[in-house]
Amino acid sequence: MPFPPEPFTYHGGCNCRSIRYRIAVPAEMSRPLNIYGTSAAPERLPMSVICQCNDCRRTHGQAFGFALINVLSWASFSLRSQSEEERKEEHKEEKVGEERQEDWIPAPALFDATTGPRLDVPVLKDSTLKFFRSSPNRARGFCSNCGTPLCYFAFATPDKLPEGWYPQLDIWAGTVDRGDLEKEWFRPERELWTDFGLEWGMGITKKGASGVTRCRRYKLED
Ligand SMILES: [Zn+2]
Ligand SMILES: [Zn+2]
Repeated sequence: MPFPPEPFTYHGGCNCRSIRYRIAVPAEMSRPLNIYGTSAAPERLPMSVICQCNDCRRTHGQAFGFALINVLSWASFSLRSQSEEERKEEHKEEKVGEERQEDWIPAPALFDATTGPRLDVPVLKDSTLKFFRSSPNRARGFCSNCGTPLCYFAFATPDKLPEGWYPQLDIWAGTVDRGDLEKEWFRPERELWTDFGLEWGMGITKKGASGVTRCRRYKLED
């Protein structure tokens, strides 16, 4: 099922909740074309993909990556300070199931299309959102407190990027809040970098893991 044509918003974040994000997708006609689509079958973002590249495999610590390709300007972040003392105080006040007060920062204030993450912005600098550069112009964001990999940002001067490129932010789909991720729209519709995939890993994505013994929890049942 494709993403709905009307505007929708989804949320997610890292495992310790120091980093929260919100992606507000506008109505279909305001969504840019995916530059990897074809003119015969134009498609618009966002897009849900499996990525078989070696960097994604390692970054996710999984057999393959699962990502949502978004426009940078759709994203906002709520970032906590990395100060342990502050976090302890916040945790004391939090009750289970209670949403904390979010202070949303538009992603373009944190990411520059040509130079990458704006590491000099105090709220980013003081947060647990850190970056690894897997290539000179590719930043992979993660939480330095809980280790959750979160996002991928490609940046460069316009002449170094494919024609039609616009700033986009990929979110690792496993970090999307479960209530959102359960929606059928998030089912991957494309598998990328299959030249680099593991044969058996691609077997799982192709055959739906048929033949694998499925355990309801973590062990075989009687
Ligand atoms: Zn975290
Ligand atoms: Zn990848």
